[in-house]
Amino acid sequence: MKNYHTHTFRCKHAEGDVTDYARSAMKKGFTVLGMTDHTPLPDNRWLPIRMDIADLPAYVRAIEEAQNEYPDLKILKGMECEWAPEYHNFFAEVLLGKYGLDYLILGCHFFSYRGRWLSSHMDIINSKRLAAYTETLIESMRSGLFSFVAHPDLFGLSYLDWDKNTAAASKEVLSAAEELKLPLEINGYGLVSRKVQTSQGTRTAYPWLPFWELAADYDVTVIVNSDAHHPKSLDQGIERGREMARDLGLTLANLDHLERR
Ligand SMILES: [Zn+2]
Ligand SMILES: [Zn+2]
Repeated sequence: MKNYHTHTFRCKHAEGDVTDYARSAMKKGFTVLGMTDHTPLPDNRWLPIRMDIADLPAYVRAIEEAQNEYPDLKILKGMECEWAPEYHNFFAEVLLGKYGLDYLILGCHFFSYRGRWLSSHMDIINSKRLAAYTETLIESMRSGLFSFVAHPDLFGLSYLDWDKNTAAASKEVLSAAEELKLPLEINGYGLVSRKVQTSQGTRTAYPWLPFWELAADYDVTVIVNSDAHHPKSLDQGIERGREMARDLGLTLANLDHLERR
């Protein structure tokens, strides 16, 4: 088993450090453990849900220490990032450059709407905002920095009913992923613990099934990760997500090229 999406205590809403995850990974039979905590930002924006910029060296060191401690486990240095033009150079030159991270993943937790940033978790409450989320997401995908897109269907948390707008937004995202050859993530954390009540019934907020049904019509690949926020949850939703991909006839992405070291 492999997992490429994992968080440490540094983001302030997860528990455990890299060695705790490595221990859990060995116990659960993982061969690859990709660490992707919520990125620090040079201006410390949106700080309550991410590591402080001052914690970056210690994060990288913690991964290197775990790599030495667990040589049989492939531990990868990554980060989950919200892309914005002003952060592009930081991601490219500092995270991938100076710190030599193995990969970055795109987590579009905020989107630009009429000159301000709104939450992709809470604020996608009408079609205009859904369109704005889609635009931010696709612009971020086009940055060329990311190895895959975490939970592209995150809009399912606050946009509650499937309709022509969600279908159109999904098709735009899927077309972009196909064009850019960017894998899309079926998120295990969402599968296991993110339910919403809607007028169409209770469902997982994300992964939102109709999005992935549409994905089957595109030449895209998918990756299933747990998005673990606790070492115990390292495998959460992975089996179910893989089953879902299998049932829908989706192709699993191969990310072996990330293991360069
Ligand atoms: Zn998180
Ligand atoms: Zn995450």
